[in-house]
Amino acid sequence: MKVLVINCGSSSLKFQLIDSESEQVLAKGLCERIGIDGRLTYSPAGGGKHVFEDPLPNHTVAVDSVLKKLTDPEIGVIGSLAEIGAVGHRIVHGGEKFAHSTLLTEEAIKEVEACSELAPLHNPANIIGIRACQELMPGVPMVGVFDTAFHQTMPPKAFLYSLPYEYYEKYGVRRYGFHGTSHSFVSKRAAEILGKDVKDLKIIVCHLGNGASICAVDGGKSVDTSMGFTPLEGLTMGTRSGGLDPAIIEYIAEKEHLTLPEVLNVLNKKSGVQGISGVSSDFRDLEGAAKEGNERAQEALDVFTYRVAKFVGYYAAAMNGVDVICFTAGIGENDIGVRATILSYLGFLGCKLDPEANNIRGEERIISTPDSKVIAMVVPTNEELAIARETVAIVG
Ligand code: ADP
Repeated sequence: MKVLVINCGSSSLKFQLIDSESEQVLAKGLCERIGIDGRLTYSPAGGGKHVFEDPLPNHTVAVDSVLKKLTDPEIGVIGSLAEIGAVGHRIVHGGEKFAHSTLLTEEAIKEVEACSELAPLHNPANIIGIRACQELMPGVPMVGVFDTAFHQTMPPKAFLYSLPYEYYEKYGVRRYGFHGTSHSFVSKRAAEILGKDVKDLKIIVCHLGNGASICAVDGGKSVDTSMGFTPLEGLTMGTRSGGLDPAIIEYIAEKEHLTLPEVLNVLNKKSGVQGISGVSSDFRDLEGAAKEGNERAQEALDVFTYRVAKFVGYYAAAMNGVDVICFTAGIGENDIGVRATILSYLGFLGCKLDPEANNIRGEERIISTPDSKVIAMVVPTNEELAIARETVAIVG
């Protein structure tokens, strides 16, 4: 079956057409600046990257343009839309309602809409993408795959905040966690690579990208994760602060004469390694600057790696042990120095880095020594493939 995977944001739409039998990507691309002017980048598997500056006034036009490229006689990869057997939609927030991927019936879409309050920046955009596909591909089954679903196995001791309980009951204020599709994919793949059953392993997945989170996966289930009510909690990220003393919010608001939404904007967009360094949110820039003697760039890297190592420590305690530590996403897959620094804190767990093996980017590899008590490995994530697999599993 050919599955169209859609990841819809407020002004962008990423897509991949995946053949579920061979698991090959037939074509992929990105619509940007939807509702502003519009740019569509389209890359068919045969090679080449085509950029179109056609206007994209709304998401329906964007999806229509994508479908036209996929079926184009010259650069298309399918003869007709009838070849698309199902659509898999990435949905950011499934609240407590969705512990698994789901067939997007009208009732399910209403439930997703009800979760919008918890993710006002993301879920409405996801729903617009669903509606656009419904309009243009009537009758094609659609599946919603949620960033939060994998973490619904967290026990109350991991998901409750120490706040008045009624906030949880009345407003759903609890930890949900995100990047679940990636944490699930990577932990399963790590077990496969090691030739073991995921049920027999305690795995810590470090998803280190521009957004970053860590997950404790015990026996294949998420038991704790570093992002919380929103993706702002936890690790230091590209531009997000991660965890901080909440009293700082009022203090900064007063000092800088900012409103609460303005302070939150600072925490989301002007903090993290970008905020500390004043250089960049991109680790390649930070490392370049640190090498040239920029102390704040080095401090940003130090804060980032130290916090990741601390979270690995928390989760080793949470699971009463750890067998495997996985690195994934842009930084985890590519940044040799960051991996080495994080693992330099973890000798106490019996984790020994093999510097030779660590000298790789973007490939599956065990990077600990053969006598290391804890296995460290790089496992590239593939959220689109994970969404396509989930979609096929549900559509059948
Ligand atoms: P997201 O999906 O959250 O936007 P990614 O997983 O794509 O993030 O990761 C993007 C980040 O990965 C970049 O900001 C950059 O810091 C980092 N990155 C990518 N390639 C490299 C590299 N070769 N070395 C170090 N860091 C890299």
